[in-house]
Amino acid sequence: MIIGKWNLAWAMGLVSASVAWAGQSASPWVLTNGPAIGVPESIGTPSAGCLRGAAKLAENGTGYYLMRVSRGRSYGHPRLVLLLQGISKEMVTADGAPVLFGDLSLPRGGPTMSAHSSHQTGLDADVWYMRPKHWRVSKISIAEREKTSSVSVVNKKKLAVNRNFGDKQINLLRAFAEKQEVDRILVNFAVKRALCKKMPEQPWIRKIRPWFGHDHHFHVRLKCTDQDATCKNGEEIPPGNGCDASLDWWWSAEARLEERKNLFKQDNPVMPILPSPCADVLKM
Ligand SMILES: [Zn+2]
Repeated sequence: MIIGKWNLAWAMGLVSASVAWAGQSASPWVLTNGPAIGVPESIGTPSAGCLRGAAKLAENGTGYYLMRVSRGRSYGHPRLVLLLQGISKEMVTADGAPVLFGDLSLPRGGPTMSAHSSHQTGLDADVWYMRPKHWRVSKISIAEREKTSSVSVVNKKKLAVNRNFGDKQINLLRAFAEKQEVDRILVNFAVKRALCKKMPEQPWIRKIRPWFGHDHHFHVRLKCTDQDATCKNGEEIPPGNGCDASLDWWWSAEARLEERKNLFKQDNPVMPILPSPCADVLKM
């Protein structure tokens, strides 16, 4: 077993968020009608935590579109929202293609009890690989965005990337990975392998971490800061670029077993035990 058990549990639920989200009504966090007022603070871990003082990513902004607005997951720590806005401006200036964002967090973070178990502390964001250049000029309505499907960058057997993965996608991954405040980026293992083959010497690919699913989007996670007193980062990324035997594990029979377990947990979410400050965050 190459990946630690704790690490696996911590990251559980990060598989592609495209599954049904019928269980969502089971979480009181879905019913909050706005952010908890106060100094912004990420509390706990991505899979058992909450968020005070969230900012909302506007549905439209320079160089980006927020997708799936109806899910109500457009909130994040203000640091995350600023980062998404900043990178969108950089990218649209560089190559003319807007960036499409999927889920951030609920207004007060917390468990959604659907689709993915992380995104609870306002430090996680899903970023679509698809970057339609023509969307820059023609305004795409929220309704149209609801109907638009994301495009996979991985071939059917998950053995390699397909032709939807090119420079525009690599530049976007790089823009995030090179930001100091980004802790890690979770991608499908085939994406990690493609980067290992193409540019193993690039220091930024260390932050690009292989995971299950994530063939239509990648998952950006920011680091906690000293202002987030109870926020916990994940396990330290091991030294090196990650293009070693630990990457081969993802194609093993053991990995397929873990993948099935992971999908089961995703479909049968369990309410996590949250840190005590989250009770106040929910009540406010
Ligand atoms: Zn995600």
